[in-house]
Amino acid sequence: MTDGRTASHLSSVQLQSLRQELREQLEQRSRHLRGLRAQEQDGSGADGTWQELAVSIIAAERTVAELSQACDRLAAGAYGRCAHCQTPIPFERLKVRPLARTCIDCQRRHEAA
Ligand SMILES: [Zn+2]
Repeated sequence: MTDGRTASHLSSVQLQSLRQELREQLEQRSRHLRGLRAQEQDGSGADGTWQELAVSIIAAERTVAELSQACDRLAAGAYGRCAHCQTPIPFERLKVRPLARTCIDCQRRHEAA
């Protein structure tokens, strides 16, 4: 059951399920971002609303970029490892947070810092 190309701790079924999850989220977020941009084009935003909109657009753009990078990493077989210590991130964690880039230990350390 090894395909030789990737040495992932995740099974092909798990990878498949994560890939699908990432794609669905990417699709959803991209649609959301297009909606926000359309609102921005409308230029209806009086007072503070356009500023809120601008913040939402930046956040949505970041999420879309992260999701698309995660898809790339997954395709490259580099998905699911901690960005700091290279520890494999358990499937259960990725399933809940497909964008998790660090293991729980590193995240705690990061949050404590
Ligand atoms: Zn780590």
